Amino acid sequence: MVKLKDKQFVPFLSEEEILGAIKKMAAEIAEDYKDKVPIFVGVLNGAFMFTSDFLKNYPYPCEVSFVKLSSYSGLTSTGIVETLLDVPENISGRSVIILEDIIDTGRTLQKLVHLFSNTNVKDFKIASLFYKSELYNGEYTIDYFGMEIPDKFIVGYGLDYKEMGRNLRAVYQLNQNRMINIVLFGKPGAGKGTQAAFLKEKYNLKHISTGDVFRYNIKNETKLGKLAQSYMDKGDLVPDEVTIKMLQDEVDNNPDASGFIFDGFPRTAAQAEALDNFLGSKDMQIDATIALEANNEVLIARLLERGKVSGRSDDQDETKIRNRFDEYNQKTAPLRTYYESQGKLHVVDGIGEIHEITERLTQLIDKLQTVNK
Ligand code: AMP
Repeated sequence: MVKLKDKQFVPFLSEEEILGAIKKMAAEIAEDYKDKVPIFVGVLNGAFMFTSDFLKNYPYPCEVSFVKLSSYSGLTSTGIVETLLDVPENISGRSVIILEDIIDTGRTLQKLVHLFSNTNVKDFKIASLFYKSELYNGEYTIDYFGMEIPDKFIVGYGLDYKEMGRNLRAVYQLNQNRMINIVLFGKPGAGKGTQAAFLKEKYNLKHISTGDVFRYNIKNETKLGKLAQSYMDKGDLVPDEVTIKMLQDEVDNNPDASGFIFDGFPRTAAQAEALDNFLGSKDMQIDATIALEANNEVLIARLLERGKVSGRSDDQDETKIRNRFDEYNQKTAPLRTYYESQGKLHVVDGIGEIHEITERLTQLIDKLQTVNK
């Protein structure tokens, strides 16, 4: 993932793929021009890197020059193409090959054809590294192209987003997935942490587990850790104002995240409302609250097992576990109604093999993503 100004981009074409396409183009053009000395004209700024790599792969005598045109501003083509650096001098009677980075609508191409038609070159051809066939109006023949690509906004390898990203060696496309924020809801031992570990990888989300943050602070003997310890030791909830503040700091510390999984938060009505207000102030929202369901017997067995492995004291004592269930039933369970009334509650069976439950969750999230697009 690459962040440029306010947008995120995901890998699309590797450097090897791009260079492979350029080598093929250079060989094809070399075959056609080996008996001439063509002038390659790169179209600035986007084609500077392409022009360079193309020439390194062109084996016969040739010359190089540039024109400079501009039409994009941000993500959209403005429709007005300006000439910032005009056609080179001394091109009369010569064979010209225009090197473009990308042909999409064809507007820049139209301007180029117009520019070169007004000269007395012997002939000129168009070679474009990338070509968006779905978008191109087909007005002029594109004589050579490296790769046909779908209609996605791309950056890198000379191409920019608001002048950034031209230095990237590979090509990236705009990340179209909008942010997704999920609350994983369920009793202790329901598998929230286990599943969050898979989901955060698959959907590139930041996982915030309030329990983990508290344990980290206890381990490092911070002020927050000392405060939380007495509550956690008994299986009681840490006071809301402490937890809410901590959660907000975690979100604020991850401004680049493409979404969050909240695990173990909210656990009270006050936390749920605070979360909605806080996210709202940042133009964000909870997309789904997923309740992982399992019965007490299964949960107690899981927690005692986990207690043996992790050494967590609150997992080793059945009285503490039962107290956590009571806390859940009294303070957290009512939140189901809160999210249900917002139409955001999704119940998932949390009993089965870990991978089966992951599968249930990913099916649900995939569906949510397509609906919300
Ligand atoms: P967990 O790892 O989610 O089971 O949380 C372990 C303990 O951390 C809980 O029993 C609480 O004492 C404390 N804790 C975690 N999340 C919260 C929360 N949202 N509100 C209050 N206390 C919490």
